[in-house]
Amino acid sequence: MNSIGHKTEKGLLAKLIRNDTVPHAFLFSGPKKIGKKRVALEFIKSISCTNSGNDWGFCDNCYSCRNLESNTFPDFIFIKPEEDSKDIKIEQIRDMQERFTLTSFGGNYKMVVVDDAHLMNQHTQNSFLKFLEEPRGKTIIILVSDRPDMLLPTIRSRVQNIKFSILPKKEIENHLLSLGEEAEKAKEIAAISSGQIGKAVEYHENPERKEWFDSAIKDLNMLMRANLGKKFAYSKENSENYESLVEMFEVWERYFRKELLIKIMKPSESRLEKYSILKVKGILKKISQSKNLIESTNSNKKLVLDGLMMEL
Ligand SMILES: [Zn+2]
Repeated sequence: MNSIGHKTEKGLLAKLIRNDTVPHAFLFSGPKKIGKKRVALEFIKSISCTNSGNDWGFCDNCYSCRNLESNTFPDFIFIKPEEDSKDIKIEQIRDMQERFTLTSFGGNYKMVVVDDAHLMNQHTQNSFLKFLEEPRGKTIIILVSDRPDMLLPTIRSRVQNIKFSILPKKEIENHLLSLGEEAEKAKEIAAISSGQIGKAVEYHENPERKEWFDSAIKDLNMLMRANLGKKFAYSKENSENYESLVEMFEVWERYFRKELLIKIMKPSESRLEKYSILKVKGILKKISQSKNLIESTNSNKKLVLDGLMMEL
């Protein structure tokens, strides 16, 4: 599947190819699940495709295109946290460095994409930094991240940052329609996926994911009326799984952000009568802090969720 949207970013990258001014390291930053990794792969294909000229474009048919797509291209390394791991291991970076010291298979670019690059810890980032500082021959390194703030400033200053934004609702809706989704459903999914095409496709492919979303909102409405005992019981039951906890925070964050907007623009339509604008802002701040704690520290998940419960 080709990437959807991101015309400006692709235009910028195309220009670099045309002018032969592709820098050796990039950071593709922006929210989760909007297609950054996909564009990174398409960029690399555009550079390597033997059937297309010096511009954005790839045939999806030549040796390079096919092997890049299946991650079997000898001069391409794709790094992401290994299964069941929350971070990128230093060994993965060392392996990559080793492979990069061998001469390139085709005498062409050696390319690496590091997905969720912020999941390298400080130590691993330092090792990566050394690699960034001494690239060998023709290399292209693309770091992909939705949390560039967690990358060392010394890394950030050595890469060209391409910032990606969320997609317009209409673009997501049209894509879902092209995948065969019903018109009504496509509109509904586009409305709740907050510009994240990856999320929208997930909801389209797995209806139970959409049900999970609906129940997270239902739970939130129940919790806003519940007493502390009930809230803590909920916290106990729902703080085990890291991934679903982070996702729950994200769903709630989007809910409150939307409600905040309604409160400011059309106060009479607000569903949160007893919450002031200040209160909603406070909750949003707490959700963002909680998410941060869970993602970047080893904080006790239940205690973090308890803290948020008290704010609701
Ligand atoms: Zn090709």
